[in-house]
Amino acid sequence: MDTRFVTILEKIRQNASERPDRLMMIESAGETKQSITWGQLDDYSDRLAYWMDSRLKTKTPIIVYGHKDPMMIVCFLACVKSGRAYCPIDINVPVSRTAAIVNEVKPEIILTTEPLDIQASGTTVDKEQILQIVSAETNRISPEKAVKPDDVFYIIFTSGSTGVPKGVQITRDCLDHFIQWAITLGNGVADEKAYVFLNQAPFSFDLSVMDLFLCLYTGGTLWALPKPVQNDMKQLYRSLGESDANVWVSTPSFADVCLADPVFSSELMPNLTVFLFCGEILTNRTVERLFKRFPNAKVVNTYGPTESTCAVTEVTVTEEINRSVTPLPVGRPKPGTWIRIVGENGQILPDGEHGEIVIVGDSVSVGYWNNEEKNKLAFGMTTENGTQYRFYRTGDEGYLSDGMLYYGGRMDLQVKLHGYRIELGDIENNLLKIDGIEQAVVIPTYRDGKVSSLVAGLVSSLPVSDEKAEVAKIKEALKKELPEYMIPKKIRFLSDIPRTNNGKIDRKAVGEIL
Ligand code: AMP
Repeated sequence: MDTRFVTILEKIRQNASERPDRLMMIESAGETKQSITWGQLDDYSDRLAYWMDSRLKTKTPIIVYGHKDPMMIVCFLACVKSGRAYCPIDINVPVSRTAAIVNEVKPEIILTTEPLDIQASGTTVDKEQILQIVSAETNRISPEKAVKPDDVFYIIFTSGSTGVPKGVQITRDCLDHFIQWAITLGNGVADEKAYVFLNQAPFSFDLSVMDLFLCLYTGGTLWALPKPVQNDMKQLYRSLGESDANVWVSTPSFADVCLADPVFSSELMPNLTVFLFCGEILTNRTVERLFKRFPNAKVVNTYGPTESTCAVTEVTVTEEINRSVTPLPVGRPKPGTWIRIVGENGQILPDGEHGEIVIVGDSVSVGYWNNEEKNKLAFGMTTENGTQYRFYRTGDEGYLSDGMLYYGGRMDLQVKLHGYRIELGDIENNLLKIDGIEQAVVIPTYRDGKVSSLVAGLVSSLPVSDEKAEVAKIKEALKKELPEYMIPKKIRFLSDIPRTNNGKIDRKAVGEIL
Protein backbone atom coordinates (compact mmCIF):
# COMPACT_ATOMS: atom_id res chain seq x y z
CA MET A 1 0.00 0.00 0.00
CA ASP A 2 1.22 3.49 -0.86
CA THR A 3 2.02 5.11 2.48
CA ARG A 4 1.84 8.69 1.19
CA PHE A 5 -1.83 8.96 1.96
CA VAL A 6 -3.78 8.72 5.18
CA THR A 7 -5.67 5.45 5.49
CA ILE A 8 -9.36 5.23 6.37
CA LEU A 9 -9.02 4.34 10.06
CA GLU A 10 -6.39 7.04 10.70
CA LYS A 11 -8.57 9.57 8.92
CA ILE A 12 -11.64 8.68 10.98
CA ARG A 13 -9.63 9.20 14.18
CA GLN A 14 -8.32 12.54 12.91
CA ASN A 15 -11.77 13.73 11.90
CA ALA A 16 -13.22 12.77 15.27
CA SER A 17 -10.51 14.55 17.24
CA GLU A 18 -10.69 17.69 15.09
CA ARG A 19 -14.49 18.01 15.06
CA PRO A 20 -15.93 15.86 17.87
CA ASP A 21 -19.25 17.74 18.01
CA ARG A 22 -20.09 17.65 14.33
CA LEU A 23 -22.84 15.24 13.39
CA MET A 24 -21.45 12.22 11.58
CA MET A 25 -24.77 10.60 10.74
CA ILE A 26 -28.43 11.51 10.85
CA GLU A 27 -31.11 8.92 10.25
CA SER A 28 -33.95 10.93 8.85
CA ALA A 29 -36.99 9.07 10.12
CA GLY A 30 -39.48 11.94 10.13
CA GLU A 31 -39.99 13.42 13.60
CA THR A 32 -37.81 10.88 15.37
CA LYS A 33 -34.36 11.52 14.01
CA GLN A 34 -31.47 9.51 15.40
CA SER A 35 -28.00 10.93 15.12
CA ILE A 36 -24.45 10.49 16.29
CA THR A 37 -21.53 12.91 16.52
CA TRP A 38 -18.02 12.24 15.31
CA GLY A 39 -16.79 12.18 18.91
CA GLN A 40 -19.42 9.61 19.93
CA LEU A 41 -18.71 7.46 16.89
CA ASP A 42 -15.02 7.25 17.70
CA ASP A 43 -15.53 6.83 21.41
CA TYR A 44 -18.30 4.20 21.23
CA SER A 45 -16.55 2.17 18.55
CA ASP A 46 -13.30 2.18 20.56
CA ARG A 47 -15.11 0.92 23.65
CA LEU A 48 -17.17 -1.69 21.82
CA ALA A 49 -14.00 -2.86 20.04
CA TYR A 50 -12.23 -3.26 23.37
CA TRP A 51 -15.18 -5.16 24.83
CA MET A 52 -15.26 -7.53 21.84
CA ASP A 53 -11.54 -8.04 21.74
CA SER A 54 -11.35 -8.92 25.40
CA ARG A 55 -14.14 -11.50 25.12
CA LEU A 56 -13.97 -13.07 21.68
CA LYS A 57 -11.68 -16.01 21.11
CA THR A 58 -11.38 -15.88 17.32
CA LYS A 59 -10.98 -13.30 14.55
CA THR A 60 -14.04 -14.64 12.72
CA PRO A 61 -16.01 -11.89 10.95
CA ILE A 62 -18.89 -10.35 12.89
CA ILE A 63 -22.40 -10.05 11.47
CA VAL A 64 -23.97 -6.61 11.95
CA TYR A 65 -27.73 -6.72 11.44
CA GLY A 66 -30.02 -3.71 11.17
CA HIS A 67 -31.01 -0.84 8.93
CA LYS A 68 -30.02 2.83 9.07
CA ASP A 69 -29.44 3.24 12.77
CA PRO A 70 -26.27 5.30 13.46
CA MET A 71 -25.21 2.53 15.86
CA MET A 72 -24.67 0.38 12.75
CA ILE A 73 -21.63 2.52 11.91
CA VAL A 74 -20.39 2.23 15.50
CA CYS A 75 -20.61 -1.56 15.11
CA PHE A 76 -18.84 -1.61 11.71
CA LEU A 77 -15.97 0.45 13.09
CA ALA A 78 -15.79 -1.51 16.34
CA CYS A 79 -15.34 -4.71 14.35
CA VAL A 80 -12.48 -3.41 12.21
CA LYS A 81 -10.86 -1.58 15.11
CA SER A 82 -10.76 -4.91 16.95
CA GLY A 83 -9.17 -6.60 13.93
CA ARG A 84 -12.33 -8.35 12.65
CA ALA A 85 -14.22 -7.96 9.40
CA TYR A 86 -17.86 -6.94 9.56
CA CYS A 87 -20.64 -8.37 7.46
CA PRO A 88 -23.67 -6.07 7.18
CA ILE A 89 -27.14 -7.56 6.75
CA ASP A 90 -30.09 -5.26 6.16
CA ILE A 91 -33.57 -5.88 7.55
CA ASN A 92 -34.84 -6.41 3.99
CA VAL A 93 -33.10 -9.82 4.08
CA PRO A 94 -35.59 -12.44 5.36
CA VAL A 95 -34.81 -14.39 8.50
CA SER A 96 -34.07 -17.68 6.71
CA ARG A 97 -31.60 -16.02 4.33
CA THR A 98 -30.01 -14.18 7.25
CA ALA A 99 -29.72 -17.52 9.04
CA ALA A 100 -28.10 -19.04 5.93
CA ILE A 101 -25.50 -16.23 5.89
CA VAL A 102 -24.93 -16.59 9.63
CA ASN A 103 -24.38 -20.32 9.16
CA GLU A 104 -21.88 -19.62 6.40
CA VAL A 105 -19.88 -17.08 8.41
CA LYS A 106 -20.29 -18.74 11.82
CA PRO A 107 -19.63 -15.53 13.76
CA GLU A 108 -18.93 -15.63 17.48
CA ILE A 109 -21.39 -12.79 17.95
CA ILE A 110 -24.06 -10.97 15.95
CA LEU A 111 -24.47 -7.28 16.67
CA THR A 112 -28.04 -6.11 16.04
CA THR A 113 -29.70 -2.71 16.01
CA GLU A 114 -33.10 -4.15 15.00
CA PRO A 115 -34.91 -7.20 16.38
CA LEU A 116 -33.64 -10.47 14.91
CA ASP A 117 -35.14 -13.80 15.82
CA ILE A 118 -32.97 -16.60 14.49
CA GLN A 119 -31.75 -19.90 15.74
CA ALA A 120 -28.15 -19.82 14.63
CA SER A 121 -24.66 -20.06 15.95
CA GLY A 122 -23.34 -16.94 17.65
CA THR A 123 -24.67 -14.89 20.54
CA THR A 124 -26.82 -11.94 19.61
CA VAL A 125 -25.88 -8.64 21.20
CA ASP A 126 -28.81 -6.26 20.73
CA LYS A 127 -28.88 -2.48 20.61
CA GLU A 128 -29.74 -2.10 24.29
CA GLN A 129 -26.78 -4.26 25.25
CA ILE A 130 -24.52 -2.39 22.84
CA LEU A 131 -25.54 0.92 24.43
CA GLN A 132 -24.83 -0.52 27.88
CA ILE A 133 -21.41 -1.74 26.76
CA VAL A 134 -20.37 1.61 25.28
CA SER A 135 -21.40 3.43 28.45
CA ALA A 136 -19.97 0.91 30.95
CA GLU A 137 -16.73 -0.08 29.21
CA THR A 138 -13.97 2.25 30.38
CA ASN A 139 -11.18 0.93 28.17
CA ARG A 140 -10.54 1.89 24.57
CA ILE A 141 -9.05 -0.39 21.99
CA SER A 142 -5.45 0.14 21.01
CA PRO A 143 -5.02 1.25 17.36
CA GLU A 144 -2.55 -1.61 16.84
CA LYS A 145 -5.42 -4.09 17.12
CA ALA A 146 -7.13 -2.80 13.96
CA VAL A 147 -7.36 -4.73 10.69
CA LYS A 148 -4.09 -4.69 8.73
CA PRO A 149 -3.84 -3.70 5.04
CA ASP A 150 -4.27 -7.28 3.81
CA ASP A 151 -6.99 -8.20 6.31
CA VAL A 152 -10.62 -8.37 5.26
CA PHE A 153 -12.43 -5.16 6.20
CA TYR A 154 -15.97 -6.14 5.22
CA ILE A 155 -17.89 -8.99 3.60
CA ILE A 156 -20.95 -8.17 1.53
CA PHE A 157 -23.22 -11.02 0.46
CA THR A 158 -24.71 -10.87 -3.04
CA SER A 159 -27.24 -13.07 -4.81
CA GLY A 160 -25.78 -16.41 -5.94
CA SER A 161 -27.05 -18.38 -8.93
CA THR A 162 -27.48 -21.61 -6.96
CA GLY A 163 -29.80 -19.98 -4.44
CA VAL A 164 -27.06 -19.50 -1.83
CA PRO A 165 -25.69 -15.94 -1.42
CA LYS A 166 -21.94 -15.36 -2.02
CA GLY A 167 -19.86 -13.33 0.45
CA VAL A 168 -17.48 -10.89 -1.27
CA GLN A 169 -14.42 -10.19 0.91
CA ILE A 170 -12.95 -6.70 0.65
CA THR A 171 -9.61 -5.96 2.33
CA ARG A 172 -8.57 -2.70 3.99
CA ASP A 173 -6.15 -2.10 1.12
CA CYS A 174 -8.95 -2.49 -1.45
CA LEU A 175 -11.05 0.02 0.44
CA ASP A 176 -8.19 2.49 0.86
CA HIS A 177 -7.42 2.35 -2.87
CA PHE A 178 -11.08 2.86 -3.68
CA ILE A 179 -11.38 5.88 -1.37
CA GLN A 180 -8.25 7.61 -2.68
CA TRP A 181 -9.92 7.66 -6.08
CA ALA A 182 -13.50 8.25 -4.94
CA ILE A 183 -12.57 11.53 -3.21
CA THR A 184 -11.59 12.89 -6.62
CA LEU A 185 -14.94 12.12 -8.29
CA GLY A 186 -16.75 15.06 -9.88
CA ASN A 187 -13.61 17.23 -9.66
CA GLY A 188 -13.01 16.46 -6.03
CA VAL A 189 -16.46 16.95 -4.61
CA ALA A 190 -15.53 15.32 -1.37
CA ASP A 191 -12.54 17.51 -0.69
CA GLU A 192 -12.89 17.80 3.07
CA LYS A 193 -15.47 20.56 2.99
CA ALA A 194 -17.59 18.67 5.48
CA TYR A 195 -20.22 17.91 2.92
CA VAL A 196 -23.52 16.21 3.58
CA PHE A 197 -23.71 12.88 1.75
CA LEU A 198 -27.00 11.25 0.93
CA ASN A 199 -27.29 7.58 1.86
CA GLN A 200 -30.01 5.73 -0.03
CA ALA A 201 -28.69 2.19 -0.37
CA PRO A 202 -28.89 -0.29 2.51
CA PHE A 203 -25.49 -1.00 4.10
CA SER A 204 -25.66 -4.56 2.78
CA PHE A 205 -25.54 -3.19 -0.78
CA ASP A 206 -22.02 -2.12 -1.78
CA LEU A 207 -23.23 1.15 -3.32
CA SER A 208 -23.44 2.40 0.28
CA VAL A 209 -19.64 2.02 0.52
CA MET A 210 -19.43 5.09 -1.72
CA ASP A 211 -21.43 7.45 0.53
CA LEU A 212 -20.45 5.96 3.89
CA PHE A 213 -16.70 5.92 3.33
CA LEU A 214 -16.54 9.20 1.43
CA CYS A 215 -18.29 10.72 4.40
CA LEU A 216 -16.08 8.98 6.95
CA TYR A 217 -12.92 9.93 5.08
CA THR A 218 -13.78 13.56 4.54
CA GLY A 219 -15.30 14.28 7.95
CA GLY A 220 -18.75 15.00 6.58
CA THR A 221 -22.27 14.07 7.63
CA LEU A 222 -24.26 11.13 6.31
CA TRP A 223 -27.96 11.80 5.77
CA ALA A 224 -29.55 8.35 5.73
CA LEU A 225 -32.97 7.73 4.23
CA PRO A 226 -34.63 4.76 5.94
CA LYS A 227 -37.04 2.51 4.07
CA PRO A 228 -40.31 4.05 5.35
CA VAL A 229 -39.11 7.49 4.19
CA GLN A 230 -38.09 6.13 0.78
CA ASN A 231 -41.52 4.52 0.42
CA ASP A 232 -43.53 7.65 1.19
CA MET A 233 -43.05 10.39 -1.40
CA LYS A 234 -44.23 13.20 0.89
CA GLN A 235 -41.80 12.21 3.63
CA LEU A 236 -39.07 11.60 1.05
CA TYR A 237 -39.19 15.09 -0.47
CA ARG A 238 -39.41 16.65 3.00
CA SER A 239 -36.34 14.70 4.09
CA LEU A 240 -34.38 15.54 0.93
CA GLY A 241 -35.15 19.22 1.46
CA GLU A 242 -34.12 19.08 5.11
CA SER A 243 -30.92 17.19 4.33
CA ASP A 244 -29.21 20.13 2.62
CA ALA A 245 -27.16 17.42 0.93
CA ASN A 246 -24.16 18.29 -1.25
CA VAL A 247 -23.34 14.86 -2.61
CA TRP A 248 -26.01 12.52 -3.96
CA VAL A 249 -25.19 8.81 -4.07
CA SER A 250 -27.84 6.42 -5.36
CA THR A 251 -28.84 4.07 -8.12
CA PRO A 252 -30.23 5.82 -11.20
CA SER A 253 -33.57 4.10 -10.45
CA PHE A 254 -33.87 5.98 -7.17
CA ALA A 255 -33.23 9.30 -8.93
CA ASP A 256 -35.97 8.33 -11.40
CA VAL A 257 -38.36 7.78 -8.50
CA CYS A 258 -37.52 11.24 -7.13
CA LEU A 259 -37.86 12.85 -10.57
CA ALA A 260 -41.52 11.80 -10.66
CA ASP A 261 -42.47 15.11 -9.02
CA PRO A 262 -41.27 18.56 -10.21
CA VAL A 263 -40.63 19.47 -6.57
CA PHE A 264 -37.40 17.49 -6.91
CA SER A 265 -35.17 20.30 -8.16
CA SER A 266 -32.40 22.67 -7.12
CA GLU A 267 -34.99 24.68 -5.23
CA LEU A 268 -35.52 21.73 -2.91
CA MET A 269 -31.79 20.90 -2.71
CA PRO A 270 -29.92 24.14 -3.50
CA ASN A 271 -26.51 22.93 -2.34
CA LEU A 272 -26.37 19.71 -4.30
CA THR A 273 -23.14 19.77 -6.28
CA VAL A 274 -22.92 16.28 -7.71
CA PHE A 275 -24.88 13.13 -8.44
CA LEU A 276 -22.75 10.00 -8.10
CA PHE A 277 -24.41 7.01 -9.73
CA CYS A 278 -23.45 3.35 -9.74
CA GLY A 279 -24.94 -0.11 -9.89
CA GLU A 280 -27.03 -0.08 -13.04
CA ILE A 281 -27.54 1.57 -16.43
CA LEU A 282 -27.76 5.36 -16.34
CA THR A 283 -29.99 6.46 -19.20
CA ASN A 284 -29.71 9.64 -21.28
CA ARG A 285 -33.26 10.49 -20.27
CA THR A 286 -32.45 10.45 -16.54
CA VAL A 287 -29.41 12.68 -17.12
CA GLU A 288 -31.37 15.07 -19.31
CA ARG A 289 -34.03 15.49 -16.64
CA LEU A 290 -31.42 15.99 -13.93
CA PHE A 291 -29.65 18.68 -15.97
CA LYS A 292 -32.94 20.55 -16.31
CA ARG A 293 -33.83 20.31 -12.62
CA PHE A 294 -30.30 20.79 -11.23
CA PRO A 295 -28.50 23.04 -13.72
CA ASN A 296 -25.47 23.50 -11.44
CA ALA A 297 -24.92 19.91 -10.40
CA LYS A 298 -22.53 17.47 -12.05
CA VAL A 299 -23.64 13.98 -13.03
CA VAL A 300 -21.07 11.21 -12.66
CA ASN A 301 -21.60 7.66 -13.90
CA THR A 302 -19.47 5.03 -12.17
CA TYR A 303 -19.29 1.30 -12.80
CA GLY A 304 -18.13 -1.70 -10.87
CA PRO A 305 -19.24 -4.87 -9.09
CA THR A 306 -19.09 -5.56 -5.35
CA GLU A 307 -16.11 -7.80 -6.20
CA SER A 308 -13.98 -4.78 -7.10
CA THR A 309 -14.99 -2.52 -4.18
CA CYS A 310 -18.01 -0.56 -5.29
CA ALA A 311 -16.75 1.14 -8.47
CA VAL A 312 -13.67 1.27 -10.66
CA THR A 313 -14.53 3.51 -13.62
CA GLU A 314 -16.03 6.99 -13.86
CA VAL A 315 -17.13 9.57 -16.33
CA THR A 316 -18.61 12.99 -15.73
CA VAL A 317 -21.53 13.13 -18.15
CA THR A 318 -21.54 16.50 -19.88
CA GLU A 319 -24.45 17.91 -21.90
CA GLU A 320 -22.36 17.17 -24.99
CA ILE A 321 -21.85 13.50 -24.05
CA ASN A 322 -25.50 13.13 -23.14
CA ARG A 323 -26.61 14.59 -26.47
CA SER A 324 -24.29 12.55 -28.63
CA VAL A 325 -23.69 9.15 -26.98
CA THR A 326 -26.31 6.41 -26.42
CA PRO A 327 -25.99 4.30 -24.36
CA LEU A 328 -23.85 6.44 -22.08
CA PRO A 329 -20.28 5.31 -21.35
CA VAL A 330 -19.48 4.01 -17.87
CA GLY A 331 -16.09 5.68 -17.72
CA ARG A 332 -12.33 5.31 -17.52
CA PRO A 333 -10.61 3.15 -14.90
CA LYS A 334 -9.28 4.60 -11.68
CA PRO A 335 -5.52 4.62 -11.04
CA GLY A 336 -4.38 1.13 -10.08
CA THR A 337 -7.12 -0.49 -12.18
CA TRP A 338 -6.99 -1.85 -15.72
CA ILE A 339 -9.95 -2.92 -17.78
CA ARG A 340 -9.44 -5.79 -20.19
CA ILE A 341 -11.98 -6.91 -22.75
CA VAL A 342 -11.57 -10.64 -23.16
CA GLY A 343 -12.80 -12.91 -25.96
CA GLU A 344 -14.23 -16.42 -25.73
CA ASN A 345 -10.80 -18.07 -25.76
CA GLY A 346 -9.38 -15.75 -23.14
CA GLN A 347 -7.60 -13.50 -25.65
CA ILE A 348 -7.43 -9.75 -24.92
CA LEU A 349 -9.50 -7.95 -27.55
CA PRO A 350 -8.53 -4.67 -29.20
CA ASP A 351 -10.39 -1.35 -28.94
CA GLY A 352 -13.93 -1.48 -30.27
CA GLU A 353 -14.40 -5.25 -30.01
CA HIS A 354 -17.04 -6.64 -27.67
CA GLY A 355 -16.17 -9.19 -25.01
CA GLU A 356 -16.24 -9.89 -21.29
CA ILE A 357 -15.15 -7.05 -18.99
CA VAL A 358 -12.29 -8.23 -16.77
CA ILE A 359 -11.18 -5.92 -13.96
CA VAL A 360 -7.53 -6.03 -12.94
CA GLY A 361 -6.16 -4.03 -10.04
CA ASP A 362 -5.65 -2.97 -6.47
CA SER A 363 -9.28 -2.98 -5.35
CA VAL A 364 -10.25 -6.44 -6.62
CA SER A 365 -11.59 -8.68 -3.85
CA VAL A 366 -9.49 -11.50 -2.40
CA GLY A 367 -12.40 -13.80 -3.26
CA TYR A 368 -15.69 -15.12 -1.96
CA TRP A 369 -15.94 -16.26 1.63
CA ASN A 370 -15.40 -20.00 1.89
CA ASN A 371 -16.11 -20.73 -1.78
CA GLU A 372 -13.01 -22.07 -3.53
CA GLU A 373 -14.98 -23.43 -6.45
CA LYS A 374 -16.47 -20.02 -7.39
CA ASN A 375 -13.17 -18.27 -6.64
CA LYS A 376 -11.35 -20.41 -9.18
CA LEU A 377 -13.89 -19.49 -11.84
CA ALA A 378 -14.10 -15.77 -11.16
CA PHE A 379 -10.74 -14.60 -9.74
CA GLY A 380 -7.08 -14.95 -10.63
CA MET A 381 -3.68 -13.25 -10.72
CA THR A 382 -2.11 -11.39 -13.61
CA THR A 383 0.67 -8.89 -14.30
CA GLU A 384 0.25 -5.21 -15.15
CA ASN A 385 3.20 -2.80 -15.35
CA GLY A 386 5.45 -5.51 -13.96
CA THR A 387 3.36 -5.92 -10.80
CA GLN A 388 1.07 -8.80 -9.83
CA TYR A 389 -2.59 -7.89 -9.38
CA ARG A 390 -5.79 -9.81 -8.80
CA PHE A 391 -8.35 -9.89 -11.57
CA TYR A 392 -12.08 -10.53 -11.59
CA ARG A 393 -14.17 -11.83 -14.50
CA THR A 394 -17.29 -9.71 -14.24
CA GLY A 395 -19.68 -11.61 -16.52
CA ASP A 396 -20.49 -8.18 -17.97
CA GLU A 397 -20.24 -7.61 -21.69
CA GLY A 398 -18.67 -4.43 -23.02
CA TYR A 399 -16.04 -2.74 -25.13
CA LEU A 400 -13.39 -0.04 -24.84
CA SER A 401 -13.06 2.93 -27.13
CA ASP A 402 -10.00 5.07 -26.60
CA GLY A 403 -9.79 3.99 -22.96
CA MET A 404 -13.48 4.67 -22.29
CA LEU A 405 -15.57 1.68 -21.19
CA TYR A 406 -19.03 0.97 -22.60
CA TYR A 407 -21.31 -1.52 -20.86
CA GLY A 408 -23.34 -3.89 -23.01
CA GLY A 409 -25.32 -5.99 -20.53
CA ARG A 410 -24.84 -9.34 -18.81
CA MET A 411 -23.50 -12.52 -20.36
CA ASP A 412 -25.37 -14.70 -17.84
CA LEU A 413 -28.62 -14.74 -15.90
CA GLN A 414 -27.80 -11.91 -13.49
CA VAL A 415 -30.06 -8.86 -13.67
CA LYS A 416 -30.28 -5.48 -12.00
CA LEU A 417 -33.74 -4.49 -10.81
CA HIS A 418 -33.92 -0.99 -9.32
CA GLY A 419 -30.18 -1.32 -8.76
CA TYR A 420 -30.42 -4.60 -6.85
CA ARG A 421 -28.26 -7.44 -8.11
CA ILE A 422 -30.30 -10.58 -8.64
CA GLU A 423 -29.35 -13.99 -10.01
CA LEU A 424 -32.44 -15.39 -11.72
CA GLY A 425 -31.19 -18.85 -10.69
CA ASP A 426 -31.39 -17.73 -7.06
CA ILE A 427 -35.14 -17.12 -7.41
CA GLU A 428 -35.68 -20.25 -9.54
CA ASN A 429 -33.91 -22.48 -7.02
CA ASN A 430 -35.96 -21.04 -4.17
CA LEU A 431 -39.16 -21.56 -6.18
CA LEU A 432 -38.21 -25.20 -6.69
CA LYS A 433 -38.06 -25.68 -2.91
CA ILE A 434 -41.80 -24.96 -2.67
CA ASP A 435 -44.07 -28.02 -2.43
CA GLY A 436 -45.41 -29.15 -5.78
CA ILE A 437 -43.22 -26.88 -7.96
CA GLU A 438 -41.48 -29.14 -10.47
CA GLN A 439 -40.07 -26.61 -12.92
CA ALA A 440 -39.44 -22.89 -12.56
CA VAL A 441 -38.19 -20.16 -14.82
CA VAL A 442 -37.86 -16.44 -14.10
CA ILE A 443 -37.42 -13.89 -16.86
CA PRO A 444 -37.00 -10.13 -16.79
CA THR A 445 -39.22 -7.63 -18.61
CA TYR A 446 -37.62 -4.44 -19.92
CA ARG A 447 -38.50 -0.75 -20.22
CA ASP A 448 -36.10 1.85 -21.71
CA GLY A 449 -33.40 -0.83 -21.94
CA LYS A 450 -33.56 -1.51 -18.18
CA VAL A 451 -35.17 -4.40 -16.31
CA SER A 452 -38.53 -3.18 -15.04
CA SER A 453 -39.98 -6.35 -13.44
CA LEU A 454 -39.63 -10.12 -13.11
CA VAL A 455 -42.06 -12.77 -14.29
CA ALA A 456 -42.04 -16.42 -13.22
CA GLY A 457 -43.37 -19.42 -15.10
CA LEU A 458 -44.04 -22.55 -13.04
CA VAL A 459 -44.97 -26.12 -13.66
CA SER A 460 -46.74 -27.66 -10.68
CA SER A 461 -47.28 -31.34 -9.96
CA LEU A 462 -50.35 -30.45 -7.88
CA PRO A 463 -53.69 -29.44 -9.42
CA VAL A 464 -54.10 -25.65 -9.49
CA SER A 465 -57.79 -24.85 -9.17
CA ASP A 466 -57.57 -21.26 -7.91
CA GLU A 467 -54.55 -19.71 -9.66
CA LYS A 468 -54.83 -16.37 -7.84
CA ALA A 469 -54.83 -18.00 -4.39
CA GLU A 470 -51.99 -20.32 -5.40
CA VAL A 471 -49.86 -17.39 -6.66
CA ALA A 472 -50.46 -15.54 -3.38
CA LYS A 473 -49.34 -18.64 -1.45
CA ILE A 474 -46.20 -18.98 -3.54
CA LYS A 475 -45.31 -15.31 -3.07
CA GLU A 476 -45.78 -15.71 0.69
CA ALA A 477 -43.53 -18.79 0.72
CA LEU A 478 -40.90 -16.98 -1.36
CA LYS A 479 -40.93 -13.94 0.93
CA LYS A 480 -39.69 -16.17 3.75
CA GLU A 481 -36.59 -16.96 1.69
CA LEU A 482 -35.88 -13.88 -0.42
CA PRO A 483 -35.85 -10.09 -0.06
CA GLU A 484 -38.98 -8.32 -1.31
CA TYR A 485 -37.23 -6.97 -4.43
CA MET A 486 -36.56 -10.56 -5.61
CA ILE A 487 -40.21 -11.65 -5.59
CA PRO A 488 -41.50 -11.90 -9.20
CA LYS A 489 -44.30 -9.42 -9.86
CA LYS A 490 -46.18 -11.86 -12.05
CA ILE A 491 -46.36 -15.64 -11.62
CA ARG A 492 -48.04 -17.91 -14.16
CA PHE A 493 -48.62 -21.63 -14.25
CA LEU A 494 -47.61 -23.44 -17.43
CA SER A 495 -48.24 -27.00 -18.59
CA ASP A 496 -44.59 -27.22 -19.62
CA ILE A 497 -41.56 -24.97 -19.96
CA PRO A 498 -40.28 -24.58 -23.54
CA ARG A 499 -36.80 -26.03 -24.04
CA THR A 500 -34.19 -25.86 -26.78
CA ASN A 501 -33.02 -28.96 -28.67
CA ASN A 502 -30.27 -29.57 -26.13
CA GLY A 503 -32.74 -29.49 -23.25
CA LYS A 504 -31.94 -26.00 -21.91
CA ILE A 505 -34.77 -23.67 -20.95
CA ASP A 506 -35.63 -21.58 -24.03
CA ARG A 507 -35.85 -18.20 -22.30
CA LYS A 508 -36.80 -16.39 -25.47
CA ALA A 509 -39.76 -18.71 -26.03
CA VAL A 510 -40.72 -18.43 -22.36
CA GLY A 511 -40.69 -14.62 -22.74
CA GLU A 512 -43.16 -14.91 -25.58
CA ILE A 513 -45.70 -16.96 -23.61
CA LEU A 514 -45.45 -15.23 -20.23
P1 AMP B 1 -23.22 -4.90 -7.65
O1 AMP B 1 -22.26 -5.97 -7.29
O2 AMP B 1 -24.53 -5.00 -6.93
O3 AMP B 1 -22.63 -3.55 -7.53
O4 AMP B 1 -23.57 -5.13 -9.18
C1 AMP B 1 -22.57 -5.10 -10.15
C2 AMP B 1 -23.17 -5.14 -11.51
O5 AMP B 1 -24.02 -4.01 -11.73
C3 AMP B 1 -22.11 -5.02 -12.60
O6 AMP B 1 -21.47 -6.24 -12.84
C4 AMP B 1 -22.94 -4.52 -13.77
O7 AMP B 1 -23.63 -5.57 -14.39
C5 AMP B 1 -23.95 -3.59 -13.07
N1 AMP B 1 -23.49 -2.18 -13.09
C6 AMP B 1 -22.75 -1.55 -12.17
N2 AMP B 1 -22.55 -0.27 -12.51
C7 AMP B 1 -23.15 -0.07 -13.70
C8 AMP B 1 -23.29 1.04 -14.59
N3 AMP B 1 -22.78 2.24 -14.31
N4 AMP B 1 -23.97 0.84 -15.74
C9 AMP B 1 -24.51 -0.37 -16.04
N5 AMP B 1 -24.43 -1.44 -15.23
C10 AMP B 1 -23.75 -1.30 -14.07
